[in-house]
Amino acid sequence: MAGAVATVVVAGGRGLRAGGQVPKQYRTIGSVPVLRQSLAIFASHPDIRWVQPVIHREDSELYEQAAKELAVLPPAFGGATRQQSVHAGLEALAALRPDIVLVHDAARPFASQALVSRAIQAAAAGAAIPGLAMTDTVKEVDGDARVVRTIDRARLRGIQTPQAFAFDALLEAHRKAVAAGRDDFTDDAALAEWAGMTVSVFEGDAENVKLTTAEDFSRMEAHELVRLGDVRTGNGYDVHAFVDGDHVWLGGIKIGHDRGLSGHSDADAGLHALVDAILGALADGDIGEHFPPSDPKWKGASSDRFLRFAVERVRARGGRLVHLDLTIVCEAPKIGPHRDAMRARIAEIAGVSIERVGVKATTSEKLGFTGRREGIAAFATATVRLPWSAP
Ligand code: MG
Repeated sequence: MAGAVATVVVAGGRGLRAGGQVPKQYRTIGSVPVLRQSLAIFASHPDIRWVQPVIHREDSELYEQAAKELAVLPPAFGGATRQQSVHAGLEALAALRPDIVLVHDAARPFASQALVSRAIQAAAAGAAIPGLAMTDTVKEVDGDARVVRTIDRARLRGIQTPQAFAFDALLEAHRKAVAAGRDDFTDDAALAEWAGMTVSVFEGDAENVKLTTAEDFSRMEAHELVRLGDVRTGNGYDVHAFVDGDHVWLGGIKIGHDRGLSGHSDADAGLHALVDAILGALADGDIGEHFPPSDPKWKGASSDRFLRFAVERVRARGGRLVHLDLTIVCEAPKIGPHRDAMRARIAEIAGVSIERVGVKATTSEKLGFTGRREGIAAFATATVRLPWSAP
């Protein structure tokens, strides 16, 4: 390994060419903000220690939403040009003294972990950038779109990000550019070349496209649906018995009641059913296997951590949780007044929007153990999208 690696993810632009109500890095693909997807690539890479986002000052609120719970540094604020934004990110990292820095455009959310690993490897040379051989014939045209000449494409490369550099050398090059009054470099390789560094090209990735226009967004949205085409549902069921007490936990909400629920953890039958539904969709065991009741560690545990765990298992598989549906069966307490609070809380824990969480309640007409008010039952269904893989 090549020392401590940091990444600057540049998201300071306004991105208006892509249309929409918000800058393009905050638009979603498959319901995930583009910036979140880009940050997650680096935050989850085992060889990267720090991820430094650079955002526009006016986007702070959008950013907080998009980056929720990601392991990244507090954002730096960008300048008027891309170069100024990268420079701000480098200065923010300077005190941490990374050995290598990768610079990545937030508008490329499909960079693979393998590409990032190649970038880190290539950085040993001082400056290295991912490039792809051109497959189209390349022509130079004049102002009237008339062909002037055909260019030999064998020695041309289309350049992407992440671009990789020795940290100190890139920071010094940026400071030198500022001192020279230059703020117009459109990528860091151009700035590095200007500063006299030798820049080499390593193999890029055709999937690592840059989202620029509205068409890019609709094309990649469709692409994402195909990629995550392995749609699975799982179901979960849980019961907890009433005992003496003055409140119950249900659907992540504390509800005052003349009884409590017995259980090893907080006895939230709603969240437990949801956890089993997600694990079922993944064919990945059940809540008792991952959190054995025999383990004192989970005594009195708040069940939101079980749900977070299950959602993390989906993410670890490269998949996405798309819907949760919960039915609670009891005569009391009344669920209706708490329904939307439960939906909001479950959505928050699971990292999905509230429109993707259903909560319903029913009595069992005084029949059976729920009808006799001996306990509460919960049924859940989870829908998950996973990348296609071998059966
Ligand atoms: Mg349970």
